[in-house]
Amino acid sequence: MGALPKQKYAKARRGKRRQHLETSPPSLDYCPQCHSPKLAYHVCPTCGSYAGREVIEIKSPKKAG
Ligand SMILES: [Zn+2]
Repeated sequence: MGALPKQKYAKARRGKRRQHLETSPPSLDYCPQCHSPKLAYHVCPTCGSYAGREVIEIKSPKKAG
């Protein structure tokens, strides 16, 4: 059997240790090309542009293609 803690680690102490571990939600940005919301530093999923040029081809109707 492995080592076990000698005493209970209270929820308050656990929370104090984890207070710096909170994750932030992914930052949202707006595409300069089509002004639709997209993830920051990502290719726009609506028009496929990044840094002022088209990077990926967008298949507009979702099933066709
Ligand atoms: Zn766009």
